[in-house]
Amino acid sequence: MSLLDRPSVRLRPEIIALPAYRQGQPADASAFKLSSNENPFGPLPGVIEAVAAETAYNRYPDASALALRERLAKKFSLDVDQVHIGSGSVALLAQLILAAAGPGDEVLYSWRSFEAYPSLVTVAGATSVRVANRADHGHDLPEMAAAIGDNTRVVIVCSPNNPTGTIVTKDEFEAFMAVVPTDLLVILDEAYIEFVTEADAVNGPPLLARYPNLVVLRTFSKAYGLAGLRVGYALGAVDILNAARSTAIPLSVTAQAAAAAIASLKAERELLDRVRLLATRRDAAWQVMTSQGWNIPAPQGNFLWLPTGAETTSVAEALGTAGLVVRPFAAEGIRISIGEEQAVATLLLLSADLVDALPADHPARQIG
Ligand SMILES: *Cc1c(COP(=O)(O)O)cnc(C)c1O
Repeated sequence: MSLLDRPSVRLRPEIIALPAYRQGQPADASAFKLSSNENPFGPLPGVIEAVAAETAYNRYPDASALALRERLAKKFSLDVDQVHIGSGSVALLAQLILAAAGPGDEVLYSWRSFEAYPSLVTVAGATSVRVANRADHGHDLPEMAAAIGDNTRVVIVCSPNNPTGTIVTKDEFEAFMAVVPTDLLVILDEAYIEFVTEADAVNGPPLLARYPNLVVLRTFSKAYGLAGLRVGYALGAVDILNAARSTAIPLSVTAQAAAAAIASLKAERELLDRVRLLATRRDAAWQVMTSQGWNIPAPQGNFLWLPTGAETTSVAEALGTAGLVVRPFAAEGIRISIGEEQAVATLLLLSADLVDALPADHPARQIG
C-alpha cells in the first residue's frame, strides 16, 4: 500500500464500501444519450422566460417554495402543507428515509429497482431488505408484504419501476396497503407516472385520503424535462412531511427551479402532447421488438428494459458502436431511454440482429 492509498481519517466503513455514484454515460456529439431517462425535448414554453425573470441571485430562495406548493396543492386538491418540494425527488427520498429509519431499522423495496435506493438507505445507517421482482419483472407485492417485520420502517414501491418499466396495478396496491401496518411509511415513487397509459395502473394522489401512511413522490425531471434544474415534490400527511422537512438541507430548491416548475405546470397542454408522443414512440418500439422475437416487459415509463442477462455487455457494446449510449446493468439487462426519433430508428434497425444472436433459450427471447 502506498502512502496515498492509506486512509487519512476514520470514515464510516459502510460509506467507503458504497459504489461511487454512476451517472448515465455521457454521449459524444455524434451519439444519442439514452442512459438517464432524460427528455429529448427542451424546456416547455414559458420556462426559459420564467427562469430568466428570477434575477435576485443575491437573495436566498423561499425555503418552502410556497408559490409552487400552492399550485400543486390546487392541482391535487390538497392542503398546501401536504405538499413538500425538494431539489429532485431523490432529495425527498433521502429526507423521508432519514426521517423514518436509522441503525437497526429496515427499508424494504423490490429489486431490481431504482439504483439510488440502496445507497440512500446505507447513508441513513439503516439496512436494505430486497424482495426479488417477479419473473415478469414487476413488483411482487405479496412477497413484499410478507417480508415486513418488526424492524421495517419504510417500504418503497416504484411504479412504473425503474429500470424494468412495469407498473403496479391499483388493485395490487390496494391489496398491499390493506395488510401493511398503518404506522409503517409507504413511499410510492411515481417518477414516470405521466407516461403511464395502462388504465389499471396505480395513481397515488387520490389514495392519500385513505392511507395516512402513504407518501407519493413525483418529479419535474422526466416528463417535464427539467432534470437539470433539480425539482421534485412529495404529497402526503403533514406530520410525515414535517419530519422530512426537518432532515432536509435547507434552501436547496432555487427560485429558478421553482419558477421553471410553475411555468411547466402552466404548459399542461404542451406537456401532454410531448408525453403522448413519447409514449406512442415507446409503444411502437416495443411492438417492433416484440415482433422481432424479443421478450421484453410492456414499457410504461419513457424507457425499455432488455433482460439480456449474461449477454448484457456485448449487446450494450453493439448499441454503443452504433451511437446509442444506453444503461447496462451487468449480467441483468439494459435500460434504453426513449429519446429522439432517429435514436429509436437506429435501435430498431439493430435489434433484429441482436435478438437473433442471443442463445435460443435466452429469457430475452420469445419461446418458439
Ligand atoms: C429519475 C428518478 C427519480 C427522480 O429523480 P430526480 O431528478 O431527483 O427528481 C426518482 N425515482 C426514480 C425511480 C427515478 O427513475
